[in-house]
Amino acid sequence: MTKKLYIKTYGCQMNVYDSLRMADVMAPLGYSASDTVEDADLVILNTCHIREKAEDKVYSDLGRILKEKDKKKAKGEKMLIAVGGCVGQAEGAEIIHRAPYVDMVLGPQTYHQLPEMVTRAIRDGGGVVELEFPTVQKFDLLPESNIAQGASAFLSVQEGCDKFCSFCVVPYTRGVEYSRKVSAVMDEAKRLVGQGAVEITLLGQNVNAYHGENKGGTATLADLIAQLANINGLERIRYTTSHPRDMSDDLIAIHGSEPKLMPFLHLPVQSGSDEILKRMNRKHTAELYFDIIARLRTSRPDIAFSSDFIVGFPGESDKDFEDTMTLVRQVQFAQAYSFKYSQRPGTPAAVDDRQIEEKVKDERLQRLQTLLREQQTAYNASGVGKTMSVLLDRDGKHEGQLLGKSPYMQSVHVQGAEPYRGQLVDVKMTGAFLNSLSGEIVENTVNMRKAS
Ligand code: SF4
Repeated sequence: MTKKLYIKTYGCQMNVYDSLRMADVMAPLGYSASDTVEDADLVILNTCHIREKAEDKVYSDLGRILKEKDKKKAKGEKMLIAVGGCVGQAEGAEIIHRAPYVDMVLGPQTYHQLPEMVTRAIRDGGGVVELEFPTVQKFDLLPESNIAQGASAFLSVQEGCDKFCSFCVVPYTRGVEYSRKVSAVMDEAKRLVGQGAVEITLLGQNVNAYHGENKGGTATLADLIAQLANINGLERIRYTTSHPRDMSDDLIAIHGSEPKLMPFLHLPVQSGSDEILKRMNRKHTAELYFDIIARLRTSRPDIAFSSDFIVGFPGESDKDFEDTMTLVRQVQFAQAYSFKYSQRPGTPAAVDDRQIEEKVKDERLQRLQTLLREQQTAYNASGVGKTMSVLLDRDGKHEGQLLGKSPYMQSVHVQGAEPYRGQLVDVKMTGAFLNSLSGEIVENTVNMRKAS
């Protein structure tokens, strides 16, 4: 009998990928995806611990799900609830203590054990917690994925982090760096292309630290990209998220030599002040960042950059913040994510006694975001009049509109493009906004590179 599985995914693309794999793991037990909590037999919250108040959000969602669980119980039906992801890993059994109606708690490294956990939860009436970092990697234990992701697909190649930035929980929740074998990545990539993927984004918390086993040796991320580029039907390759320290010479070089590698890089810098970078334990300086950007621009002149910024890190002076503004002015970003520093329990920076006043953080964030918005708007405007290849893979906001991504990760909306859904098409950009561009299909130059 088919059972219904509802997964709510919080946070990053790695969690989106993990949620798909959880659905794969549960499929042999008869679970199929549901869009609503109400009719679900199993609800999984695949959580994220990066943002402030992550736990509060999970507990408030759990309260709502409990109401649905109670309704099912009144009808004599059962609903199992699992909390997975980084909040699951960080909070552990505390979740069941605070919310006893939660049946299972698991971490990002243990979701391959879900079928067994579900069996135990049914047998024992809940209370199942699995958080151990396994000695056998979960990737080796997961079934082949049968869920098509569409024209643009994610593929996890690396997990975990050994960098221990002083503000971040990832090394504690995802564990040490691990890279999947090249053969496993290639198999999965070919399967995704067979299911219609034209673009694959390689995922990892420190994806450019990739060092996967390859025929008795070790492959770098550049080696992996070179192999993936040989797959017929795969037209675009991206990777995220990278650390400046791991931008190796061969990776910089392949941006110039491999046309399937898209000219866009998300490279978090966090701050422009060496003093703050040191306190963040980032293991790079502003100068190293400038050097990498310059070398990438030499390798691929049209490459666009995105980054992450934290303002108001403990001890950040006015001068430190001005160094960040100077870095932004110098690099010129096409996109960026910026946040006020918030204390993550269990991290070294959380107990630093030089915390910055909220008012100061607010002012700095506003100034930084104004500058970043100006740069993003100007970057998008510079695309107007140009023709770019766009992968139209989803519905736009308006009737008859499709949305896709330019090579530079800009969202592009096109009216009346339904016949080209899932395809790469040439689009002439006619308008630019802060977060997107609009364009028209260049009919006589449509790339008839079909999705499958
Ligand atoms: S490199 Fe990234 S994932 Fe690793 S600790 Fe630093 S911020 Fe977290």
